[in-house]
This record gives sequence, structure tokens and C-alpha cells, in this order.
Amino acid sequence: MAFLRSVPRRCCAGKKMVKCGASPLAVISFLENAAVTTAAATVTTTAAVTRTPPSLRLVAQVRGYATSPSSSSTAAAAASTDVKKQRQQQQSAVPRQIDPLDLKFNDPIAAFKSKTTMELMRAYFVYQMCSIEYVVENNMKVMKMAKSVLGEKLFTKLMKATFYGHFVAGEDEVQITPVLDRLRQFGVKPILDYSVEEDISQEEAERREVQASVSEAGDEKREGPLKKYHVEKSFADRRYKVSSARTYFYLNEASCERNMDIFIRCLEAVAKDEIRTLRLKYPSQNITTNIQVDHHPGDIFAGASMGMGITAVKLTALGRPQLLLQLSEVIMRARQYTSDVIGGEGAVLAHHAKLDDFKKKFEEAHIKDTEVQKFLQKIQSDKEGVIHLFPWSGILDENYELSETFQVPDIKTGKMVRLMSQLTSKEEEMFRNMIRRLNSIVTVADNLDVRIMIDAEQTYFQPAISRLTLEMMRKYNTKKAVVFNTYQTYLQDAYNEVKTDLEQAERQNFYFGAKLVRGAYIEQERARAAAMGYPDPTNPTFEATTESYHKTLMECLRRMKQYKDKGEDPKKIGIMVASHNEDTVRFAIEKMKEIGISPEDKVICFGQLLGMCDYITFPLGQSGYSAYKYIPYGPVKEVLPYLSRRAQENRGILKKIKKEKRLLLNEITRRIVRGKLFYKPKGNYTPV
Ligand SMILES: Cc1cc2nc3c(=O)[nH]c(=O)nc-3n(C[C@H](O)[C@H](O)[C@H](O)COP(=O)(O)OP(=O)(O)OC[C@H]3O[C@@H](n4cnc5c(N)ncnc54)[C@H](O)[C@@H]3O)c2cc1C
Repeated sequence: MAFLRSVPRRCCAGKKMVKCGASPLAVISFLENAAVTTAAATVTTTAAVTRTPPSLRLVAQVRGYATSPSSSSTAAAAASTDVKKQRQQQQSAVPRQIDPLDLKFNDPIAAFKSKTTMELMRAYFVYQMCSIEYVVENNMKVMKMAKSVLGEKLFTKLMKATFYGHFVAGEDEVQITPVLDRLRQFGVKPILDYSVEEDISQEEAERREVQASVSEAGDEKREGPLKKYHVEKSFADRRYKVSSARTYFYLNEASCERNMDIFIRCLEAVAKDEIRTLRLKYPSQNITTNIQVDHHPGDIFAGASMGMGITAVKLTALGRPQLLLQLSEVIMRARQYTSDVIGGEGAVLAHHAKLDDFKKKFEEAHIKDTEVQKFLQKIQSDKEGVIHLFPWSGILDENYELSETFQVPDIKTGKMVRLMSQLTSKEEEMFRNMIRRLNSIVTVADNLDVRIMIDAEQTYFQPAISRLTLEMMRKYNTKKAVVFNTYQTYLQDAYNEVKTDLEQAERQNFYFGAKLVRGAYIEQERARAAAMGYPDPTNPTFEATTESYHKTLMECLRRMKQYKDKGEDPKKIGIMVASHNEDTVRFAIEKMKEIGISPEDKVICFGQLLGMCDYITFPLGQSGYSAYKYIPYGPVKEVLPYLSRRAQENRGILKKIKKEKRLLLNEITRRIVRGKLFYKPKGNYTPV
């Protein structure tokens, strides 16, 4: 941790982290202001004593969270149940407003009843601008020019009246509350994402990425498919042809700490918003929790949320990309090794190999070395005897030695060989830091009853991201799905990956949470594969991707139904259909009906971005389906890269924009004709 000790600790608002006073009032005022005031020196000294990050420990102390998942979960669960009970009692008294759903998504009133006419006009203007080639091509240049001509103040006003106002919820946790309130009134829930992005040049991005992707011990160049897991300078700027996803570039460990703080702050914002909503909705109820925490008995906050909110997390924000590359490579080499020894293809778990299969192969090869025997003894099996080549659960242990773990006996010589090149002790430390950050985030999420969705990124990181996420699920998803993985169905092996992970969840008895997407990096994936000479991992056509999406979703639905029929908790599988494609949303709804899964089962939810495809999200929410909007927020000048990507993405989905524009025009005209120009949206829907 030596290189972390000198890092001044700041929370994401740029304020120093401090210990506040212990009274509940102080706790609330801490929450309200996110202001902190203790000397950073105290924080950094204590940080050296334990691996729990200072910010989390302070958050934990101030808020009474526990820093291990199990210790407070009972209390948190009790608290949460308490609030939910109060809420259910209220709900049973007032019937929930539920509208019929037009599955063609052609109803302008349902689509826009949550919007003022000014907002509709703004949306129309924004989409109109997004169809002008010059504006989209040069949007960053245009925005920067406008800023220098108008000055910061006027530019901010202009952005808020147009693009920013349409695609971004506000500058901070306080400013976004009216947007969140309005969403909720119309049955829609938030996935919060603090969307500040660094605006760095391509050269700077490439320089940082190359530097952070190679071990100090050097990069072993590989041939064949494994070369994919090594950095390639011409694709080091990971923003290449990506418009619908944010990109983090590693700067140093301190920047990863800051990112962790931001994710934690987002989690807190979600939980805080839920409590606020409950209090607004049920003013006569004294909404408290019976949580009794170490430092602050009666803390009204921890564990009290409704368990509906979500925060999005990207693993590349939390550590050095080299570690994700090396871990991904080792996972693929372990798969290859298993195939070489016992045959078959795919993930190690998908082979369904038993320990005896391995033993037999080594006996047949007349290999009896003690090292081999030791290796065989260490192999773990789950309750059905299916082996795990390595003790993956240990990977979340903050004392894990990455490069020591991945050694296997060669089936020809019996000699132990490393699947991963040796890391330096500093790199091992960086890996443990990354794991610690992730553990910290999920622990807070678990305590606050807020869910986390780990985004899927480029395929050269994905084996590591998926493995780590799955281990997080195994650790934290024991009573509900706190952690969700993401699967990109444009990948040829998406269905098999999901199936293997579903099976693992069933065998190891944890709740499986997944967000299904088509995938944001298709052009980059294809171009990189072609340039580096490895097989293109994506489906050949859009139709093939859609088929893969629907098949994967069907597999999840089928298993949910199985749980339901067996009388087990159907929530053992929770899926978010994250797509702007109305055919896919329709498919999901039709299959839910066919299979007998209702919105109230709360096992399927839908997600779209704020400012995109409102004609899908709002009718879903108003008809009682679990619908989410991905809510970006952050200061105007710092979310310009996000806005730039939105403009570009909208150009790529002209058909959807055309429909949205048509519906907008219908509704604007209807309001003008009916004299409802000053319509004030007021909804009475309750999100499921
Ligand atoms: C809430 C939310 C969360 C998201 N999280 C992630 C994430 O974690 N990781 C991630 O990668 N993306 C993520 N996305 C983005 C998503 O993957 C898509 O890029 C985006 O939503 C467009 O897909 P669609 O289904 O909405 O729309 P559509 O317009 O129906 O589909 C477009 C997509 O189809 C695929 N496609 C297009 N042409 C072809 C072709 N010729 N061959 C094969 N496939 C093709 C591509 O994936 C393309 O993006 C998220 C989106 C949302 C709304």
C-alpha cells in the first residue's frame, strides 16, 4: 500500500473525507451535504493498518455499515423488511394504478404523459439536431466553440435547455431528485451513473493504455487466439467506434480509489433517494428502521432502502488493465488446458469434468510426481463433483497471490507450468487493491440494499470481469441478487457462457443476476480481431445477434419457471432486458406471459437510457412492468464526452429516432389542439 499512503483521500465531490460527529443528526447532515472534515493524514495512517479502504471505513463508521458482508446483513435485512412491510401495508390499502400496455409502443399519450410540453419540444429539437450530419460529426468541436463564444455561464444555460437537459438528470445528487421523483411517479426506477468522463486526446489515451497494459516484467508476445489478451497500440484508445459506453483510462492507483469513492457515493445517492421517496409517499408513517448498528443506534439510513435502486459499475475503473488482461488470458489458458487433458470445449465448468477424470488421464500418462499429486489434491469440486481447476473463491481474498496460484502439471512431462507470467510484488499489490475496491463497493451495496450491475466491456477483459463478478455473486448473492453480471449477446459464445454460469449458480446455490445487452463494442471488436489476426468473436449478422439474445433470454425464463414450479424462490434468477429494441422488449413480454411469469414476480426488468426510447420505458412502467432508466448525472462541463457519445449513438439508430419524433409530434399537436400546452405531469404509479 506504500504508493497509496501518500494519496490525499477525497470523496467524489472533491471534498476531503472526515469523521463526523456520532449523533444521528450529524449523520443525516453528513448524508445531506456529503461534507467531511477530518485531517487526511489521520485517514491515510489508519489506511495502512488495515486493507479496508479509508473512505469505506469512514463511511462505515459514520453510517454504521459493517465492512464484511455477513455481519450486518441480518440487521440490514430486518430493517429493509420492516420498511417493505410498512410500504406493502400502505399499498394494499390503495389500489395500484396500472394501465393497459400497447405492445406496438405506438401510443403517444402513454409515452409522454410524464413530460411537460416544453420537454417534448426540447426532445424534438435534440433529435432533430442529432440527424444533422455536420453537428454529429463535429459535435465536440461545436460544443467547445459555443463555450468559448458564449462563456461558461451562458453555455451551461444553453446546454441545460437542450442536450444536457434531455440526456442528463442534473449536476449532483440533489439536483437530480426532481427527475427521479418524476420517473417514480410514472412507474420508472433509476440506475444511477455519475457520468463524468476525462476528455483526453487519442495520443494520451494510447500512451496511458499501453503503459498500464504491460507488466514491468515485460510482455510475452503470443501467437494464436491468446494474442488477443495483449495490448495493441492501434486499438489502445478503447473509445474507438464506441458510442454507447463510457471508457476509463488507468492513470494510477489514486485515480482508481477516487473511482471507487464515486461508485460508493452513487450507491448512497440511490439509497438516500429511496428513503426520501418513502417518506414523501407515506408522510403519516414514521419510516424508520429497527437497525441497531455499532456506532449509531437508530441510524435511519443503512439497510433501509426499498431494494429497487441500481448502480452501474465498470471494473476497468477500479484497477490496472494489465491485471484484467492477464487474468483473462489465464482463464482462457485454463480452458485450453482442460480441453487438452480431458477433451471438450468451453469454460472449465462446462466440461462437467470430475476429479477422477483428471486422475485417470495422469495415470494413463504414467505421471506420478508428488507435485502432480499435490495439484490433484488441491482441486476443488462442488456438490455435484464438478471440478474447479483453481480455488476461484479465494480470488476475492485480499491476500491472494495471483501468479503463484495458476500452475498446472503438464500432461506430457508432469512438470508444473505457470499459466500466468510472474507478476512483480507491486503488481500483486495492485491486484489486491482492485479486489479490495470491488469488495468495498459490493459491501456497501449489500448494506444499503442497492443492487450493482457490473458492465461488460471488451472481450479481452471479459473473462476476468465475468469471473470476478461471478465470484462476487457467489459471495454476496446468498439471499437475493445484489450483484448482476452483464452478457453481450453479440458474442458467439454468449448463450453457452450464460448457461454455464446459470448452472454454476444452481450448483453452488447463489442468486444469479444478469443484464442482457446486445453489446456496445461491435465495430471495435471486429476491427481489432481483423488487424491482430484472431477470430472475430461477434455474430456475423444483426439477426444472429437477435437470435442469440432471444435464445439466452429464453434459457433464463425457462429456468425461472422451473424454480417457480418446484416451489423454490423464482427470484433465484433476476434478468434485466437492457435494450432499446422494441422487438426484443415485446419478445420478453410475450414469453413472460406464455411461461406464466408476472411483473409482480420481479424477476424480469427492462432498462433504457435517459432520453432514449421513452416510448418504450414509460408505457412499460405505467403498465406495471419493472422498468428502469439509466440516469447519467454530473456537472455540465464534465459530461460533454457523454453528450458527444449520445449524439453519435442517436445517429446510428435513425429508425428508432424517427418513431420517437413521430410520436413526439403527435403528442405536441394533440396538446396544442386540446389547449393542454401547459400540462403539468403528475403521476400516481407505483414502480413494481
Ligand atoms: C441499461 C443499459 C445498459 C447497458 N450496458 C451495457 C454493457 O454493460 N456493456 C455493453 O457492451 N453494452 C451495454 N449497453 C449497450 C447495448 O449493448 C447496446 O449497444 C445498445 O443498447 C444497442 O442495442 P439495442 O438492443 O438497444 O438496440 P438495437 O439497435 O436493436 O441493436 C444494435 C446492436 O445490435 C448489434 N448489432 C448491430 N449490427 C450487427 C451486426 N451486423 N452483426 C451482429 N450484431 C450487430 C450491436 O450490438 C449493436 O449495438 C447497455 C444498454 C443499456 C440500455
